[in-house]
Amino acid sequence: KQGGKGSYRVFVPQMKHKHQRRASLEGLLREAMPHKRDMFVFYQPIVDLTTRRVVAREALIRWHHPERGWISPGDFIPVAEEAGLIQELDAFVFATACREAANWQDGAIVATNVSAACLGLVRLPDLVQAELARTGLPPARLNIEVTETALLRHEADSVRDLQTLHEIGVGICLDDFGTGFSSLSHLRSFPFDKIKIDGSFVQDGDERDDCAAIVRTLAQLGRTLGVETVAEGVETQAQYERVKADGCTLGQGYFFGRPAPSSADMVRVGEIMEA
Ligand code: C2E
Ligand code: CA
Ligand code: CA
Ligand code: CA
Repeated sequence: KQGGKGSYRVFVPQMKHKHQRRASLEGLLREAMPHKRDMFVFYQPIVDLTTRRVVAREALIRWHHPERGWISPGDFIPVAEEAGLIQELDAFVFATACREAANWQDGAIVATNVSAACLGLVRLPDLVQAELARTGLPPARLNIEVTETALLRHEADSVRDLQTLHEIGVGICLDDFGTGFSSLSHLRSFPFDKIKIDGSFVQDGDERDDCAAIVRTLAQLGRTLGVETVAEGVETQAQYERVKADGCTLGQGYFFGRPAPSSADMVRVGEIMEA
């Protein structure tokens, strides 16, 4: 009983605080959305583990609030999803990423994240094809990253839409594999082009043999299925060497390069960083 009372005192103010923070973040997001002046698309390299060449870049949204500073996508993406703002946000990132990638001299692929809400509601293939036509980006230079959670939300529709995209040559990647509702049946239900192994397995592999074994097994599975495997969250030389030895074909992480602004945003982002 005493413990219950104690936890009551501690628990409720925290909940209230969290609720208030969430509400205000939603408010700030609603203000920022129409002009998106403070929203940027950063790009992080994905390299071939054998040659170390950049083969793709993942587009990652960044938000700098004039008073609050940089707000992490880990904090505001869930808010945007709940507030019904994620479609507009993802469409902005998608349009920006296609436009900018169409001008990349090295011809690397651009990978964009698609939220569960976007898979279900908008006609994703229409949006994608319109943007490819508008920017001239070839379908083969676009990857769409989806999580299993997103797939599970609207199984039939989303599989059909992704299939349509896959057929026109867009690469479909299974993101954060190994976390959440991982199930091998997803790999069978859809012809993924890449499997992204969650960074937690790569990093925990430093200390835990079972994590290293999971990476090795997934890389093996990828080889068997003829699918590329991307090791995420590679931060050190030792991790790089291990995921390469374990048979992953591609890598992403601070060791290879951090997410960075496009040349068009470099000056403004630089000013924000210095302020
Ligand atoms: P994600 O799709 O798994 O993206 C990879 C995340 O890992 C990014 O975090 C990236 O900055 C981070 N990362 C990359 N290399 C390393 C590393 O070596 N070590 C560590 N510790 N982290 C690394 P970020 O940019 O904060 O994004 C977090 C998540 O927010 C993303 O996870 C994705 O789920 C979501 N997100 C980001 N941008 C978008 C977007 O435009 N649309 C949607 N729907 N979701 C997005
Ligand atoms: Ca991703
Ligand atoms: Ca990921
Ligand atoms: Ca993640």
